[in-house]
Amino acid sequence: MALIREKDSKRLHVKSKLMGESLVSNSFLSSIEYKEPFRVFPDVSVLKVGGQSITDLGARAINPVIKEIIANSDQHKMIISTGGGTRSRHVYAIALELGMPTGIIAKLGQSVSEQNALIITTLLSPYGGIKVGDDDIPKMGAYFAQGCIPVIHGMPPYGYWEHLPKDGRLPANRTDVGAYLLAEVIGARQCIFVKDVDGLYTDNPKKVPEATLIPKVGAQELIDMNLDDLAVERTVVEMLLSAHSVTQIQIINGLKEGNITRALEGDHVGTIIYKDV
Ligand code: ADP
Ligand code: MG
Repeated sequence: MALIREKDSKRLHVKSKLMGESLVSNSFLSSIEYKEPFRVFPDVSVLKVGGQSITDLGARAINPVIKEIIANSDQHKMIISTGGGTRSRHVYAIALELGMPTGIIAKLGQSVSEQNALIITTLLSPYGGIKVGDDDIPKMGAYFAQGCIPVIHGMPPYGYWEHLPKDGRLPANRTDVGAYLLAEVIGARQCIFVKDVDGLYTDNPKKVPEATLIPKVGAQELIDMNLDDLAVERTVVEMLLSAHSVTQIQIINGLKEGNITRALEGDHVGTIIYKDV
């Protein structure tokens, strides 16, 4: 990249298309040439262990999931991301009643997903489980080289700076979003959401028994379907539209033994939502 020297002050500048630009011009942004994104860990799977859907069920759900993660840890590099669940909802309800702003509510949610990360890490510790924070991504390579299984809280670190949602005051970017964005920034092989349903249905199967499973759907197609309720945070579906590296996600039922193993192998065992635009 060429350097240019200012005539009067002798200051050095980098000659680039970006100089002097506001970086918000539409025509400018679409005119920049981008290289393919560098994928740091293209062989790593991000596995989000649901808070409400898995951790809250206690030993009956957590222990088999932990067992399956351990059984796969020799063949598959994984980062485990944790959800919040019922305790998040409890603290959200109190915070909403007290008029807390979105950024405070997001902070509260983060600490609950950290609690679950501590529990999962403790269970995985004898097998290389290591609890990491959102600033530890540059250390992951060293952890993988030692055979570790990093465990991270799912809540993305927007914290007080959480984006204001379109409706209401609950943070729209929660632990599903955190898991997805983590997969995207490391250029992961895949992002798997381990929940308590076989995948995405036409409606919440716990409330609407006649709802049917949707094995595969495009992100835009799903947005256009305008379903009342989803098994994954809506923002994840919206983010897939602008995915760079991780262009699909899979939602699987972690309560059925063998599903995690098959999904890690790349099998289609739940619902795949993919970038279709
Ligand atoms: P997690 O704890 O992993 O974040 P959630 O409880 O937030 O999981 O989301 C999974 C739940 O979403 C399922 O247990 C199911 O009851 C509910 N759900 C709502 N709408 C749907 C849908 N359209 N398809 C499948 N599950 C749905
Ligand atoms: Mg959830």
